[in-house]
Amino acid sequence: MKFYKITHDRPSCIGCGSCEYEAPKFWKLDEEDGLSTLIGGKSDERYTTLEIDEMDYEENKNACDNCPVNVIRIDEMK
Ligand code: SF4
Repeated sequence: MKFYKITHDRPSCIGCGSCEYEAPKFWKLDEEDGLSTLIGGKSDERYTTLEIDEMDYEENKNACDNCPVNVIRIDEMK
């Protein structure tokens, strides 16, 4: 089983909603500030991160690939 880490640069999100459309179990636009939130992720001042396994990779890869400002990153964990 492969594992991946998603990293979201939330302050650079423009709130387009594409990630929520591609992977609604993981991404949701916040009603207050309009930016996307990585559901269940851990946040520091800038980045939100979440570990997933390969079962959840494809939909998040689609979210990553369709983000117009490239603020979603996915790295395989070794
Ligand atoms: S696709 Fe990118 S810019 Fe659009 S809401 Fe998601 S993270 Fe933000």
